[in-house]
Amino acid sequence: MTTAFPDWRQLWRRSRIQLTDLLFPPECAVCHVDLAAGDDLAMCVDCRQQLVPQTPTRRCRQCGAENAAPPDDRGRCSHCRDGRWHFASVTPLGNYDGSLRRAVLLMKLWQREPLSLAIGRLTAESLSEPLSELGISLVVPIPMHWTRRLWRATNSPDLVAESLAHAMGVNDDGRCLVRVRHTEQQSILAPTKRAENVHHAFRVRDGHDVNGRVVLLVDDILTTGATCNDAARALRAAGASDVHVCVVARAAHNA
Ligand SMILES: [Zn+2]
Ligand SMILES: [Zn+2]
Repeated sequence: MTTAFPDWRQLWRRSRIQLTDLLFPPECAVCHVDLAAGDDLAMCVDCRQQLVPQTPTRRCRQCGAENAAPPDDRGRCSHCRDGRWHFASVTPLGNYDGSLRRAVLLMKLWQREPLSLAIGRLTAESLSEPLSELGISLVVPIPMHWTRRLWRATNSPDLVAESLAHAMGVNDDGRCLVRVRHTEQQSILAPTKRAENVHHAFRVRDGHDVNGRVVLLVDDILTTGATCNDAARALRAAGASDVHVCVVARAAHNA
C-alpha cells in the first residue's frame, strides 16, 4: 500500500480468509476438491488447465482481442486503430467464454472471494512473462461505485489486483481510484453508448500518489475498453507515466 492509513477492508478480508483456512482443509476455489496442504494456487490442476488457454493466441496489443487478421505495425487490430486510448496495452488471461466466463460470474458473489484471489495468482503465474516486460510499479483495480458495493458486498477486481500484485512482488492500491458518479452497468448498454456512460467517471483519490508510476489497471471483464480507458485517463491526468491493463477475461468485440 502507498497510503499511511491501513486498508481496513483488506485487513478484514485477510483475517476472514485466514480463519476459513484454519477451520476448513484447503480446497480448489473452483470445484472444491480437496487439495494438499500448502497448495499456494488454491486451484486443482484440472481447473487450472480448463481456465488457461493451452495454445497461445495472437491478440491485439491495444485492446487484447483475439485476432484473425494480421495487426498493423503497432500491433493493433482494425477495431482500435483510430481510437483515442489512454492505456498502452491490454493483457487478458483468456477469452470471456466457457469455464473462464463461469469463473468470472462466480467471482461476483462475496462467498466466492477465495476464487478471485486464486484467479489473481493464476493470472500472475500464466502471464508472468508479458507482465514482467511492462515495468509495472503499481497495481490498481477498477473500483465499484459505493452504492453498488453496498449491494454486492464484494468487488472482484479488488481481490484479483491484490493477489496479482502480491504474486508479482509489486505494490497495490485498492483505494487509488474513486468513481465520482454512479454509472449505468456497461453490460446493459449498446457498445456505442458505453464511452459516454463512463466519461469522466473516475478520479485519483486525494493523497494517493501515482506520479511517475507505471500502473497496471485490473478489471474482471473488458468489452469495449471504455471503462478502463476513462480510469487510465484519470491516472494519466494525475501524473502516471504509463498505464497498462490486465483483465481476467476479454469479451468479443460484438458482446
Ligand atoms: Zn478444481
Ligand atoms: Zn484491438
